[in-house]
Amino acid sequence: MAIETDYLVIGAGASGLAFADSLIAEADVEVTLIDRQDAPGGHWLHAYPFLRLHSPSAYYGVNSLPLGQDRIDEAGDNAGFYERATGEEVLDYFGEVASGLERTGRVRILPAHEHLCNGTDGERVRDMKTGDVHDVVVRQKLVDARYLEASVPATHIRPFEAAPDAQVVPVNDLPANADSASSFAVFGSGKTAADACTWLLNNGVEPDRIRWVRPRDMWFDDRTYFQPLDQVGNIMAGIAADTEAAATATDLEDLFDRLEESGRLNRIDRSSPATMYRGTMLSAGELEALRLIEDVVRLGYVERVERDRLVMTQGEVPTRADVLHVDCTALGLANAPARPVFEPGRIVIQSVRHNSPTFNAALLGFVEAHWEDDSEKNRLCPPNPYSSTTGDWPRMMSRTWQTEQDWLNEPDLMGWVSRSRLNLLGALPEHAVEEPAQSAVQSYLTSVGPAVERLGRLSQPASAA
Ligand SMILES: Cc1cc2nc3c(=O)[nH]c(=O)nc-3n(C[C@H](O)[C@H](O)[C@H](O)COP(=O)(O)OP(=O)(O)OC[C@H]3O[C@@H](n4cnc5c(N)ncnc54)[C@H](O)[C@@H]3O)c2cc1C
Repeated sequence: MAIETDYLVIGAGASGLAFADSLIAEADVEVTLIDRQDAPGGHWLHAYPFLRLHSPSAYYGVNSLPLGQDRIDEAGDNAGFYERATGEEVLDYFGEVASGLERTGRVRILPAHEHLCNGTDGERVRDMKTGDVHDVVVRQKLVDARYLEASVPATHIRPFEAAPDAQVVPVNDLPANADSASSFAVFGSGKTAADACTWLLNNGVEPDRIRWVRPRDMWFDDRTYFQPLDQVGNIMAGIAADTEAAATATDLEDLFDRLEESGRLNRIDRSSPATMYRGTMLSAGELEALRLIEDVVRLGYVERVERDRLVMTQGEVPTRADVLHVDCTALGLANAPARPVFEPGRIVIQSVRHNSPTFNAALLGFVEAHWEDDSEKNRLCPPNPYSSTTGDWPRMMSRTWQTEQDWLNEPDLMGWVSRSRLNLLGALPEHAVEEPAQSAVQSYLTSVGPAVERLGRLSQPASAA
């Protein structure tokens, strides 16, 4: 097989698809996407049965194709908020996206193809079905769309040992095994663990049958502040609350106190310090339900599950053979260090505006199509790694705000941002004279300068950009 292509995209997950979709809309180029999995969709191919987007479908996916109908949910934990697709719906959507891209005749998608390395005659790619290795000649650029590859419980290497007579399952197997368990021990601090606990509670498991093993406590975004379209004023109110808190905070602890006081961030247990921030959202209903779980173990990380005890980095607690231990410990979003997005012959897809993965990948496609000079492209798209700890929050937020200020001087870029369905603030202009949007915009404009300046002093440096 001799392949030539303008762009070779490694990884056909959310990032690779959103980038390719945006690039071919703006430039007359040929794109080849490869992925070592059997289908496009990245980590969504391994979604647990009750996984949903934690953000609204309205601004997730690729630029050219809406996801969902922008309905407001009427019942359940998400009542009053914009719909959120299930894992299955996201996967179907990416399947549709992939077919649409191929129908343009300018995009080729090769599942079960793995990128090996750079060879003398092109990029070395292995067909995983036949084992054959091919060279792909790349006329313009190699696009690394797996730099932020997600780690999920179904496929990660479990970071603890389990005795053969202990019941331990990845979160994907929780529904199938729940009936036979007397009680549950959920391992993990993040979104997946919160989802597992919520699923158990929603399925009638009493809170005192759930133990939550949390090495760290997490700050959660309040979902109210991430509602787009007709509720976009709330997003703006949330941004204003962030800049107000940042402009006046005396130190990191004070900053998070202010964010909690404003309602922007929540933690499950207000009496326990939270040190983790991963950009995960909860609604007030989910938060209240999760607070019913009182058996929380904070003894560090699980090292070994034995038949009758959990051995952890800071101690041990008893367990039983009839307890179902649920592994939710995968990292999720990659903690990859920052590196330049645009390099000679290569694009490394990374975060630019915080917590907006598909918007960012599409933005990079647009910038690649319209700017020549890599240093200009990098100025407009400085990498902004995902946050893991509270100490990362100041750097992440101030980088977003500074970058967005730079965009204001670029009418073409601003035009794309304002039209993009992936821009969570897209509906702001039509609601800007309504409340709460109007006051929030005023407050943001007053506080963003001091906020960036103050966060600069509280920031931990990201790896070299
Ligand atoms: C559980 C979960 C829920 C999420 N929910 C949301 C949400 O609600 N809203 C939101 O905005 N974001 C959400 N995200 C984040 C977002 O959807 C994406 O997960 C994130 O951008 C990562 O996507 P990706 O394409 O970069 O990585 P992946 O989905 O991990 O895809 C990377 C792909 O690269 C392939 N690959 C790796 N190495 C090679 C190689 N050498 N050769 C060929 N192929 C290779 C892999 O097989 C994989 O398919 C969520 C993430 C997770 C994990």
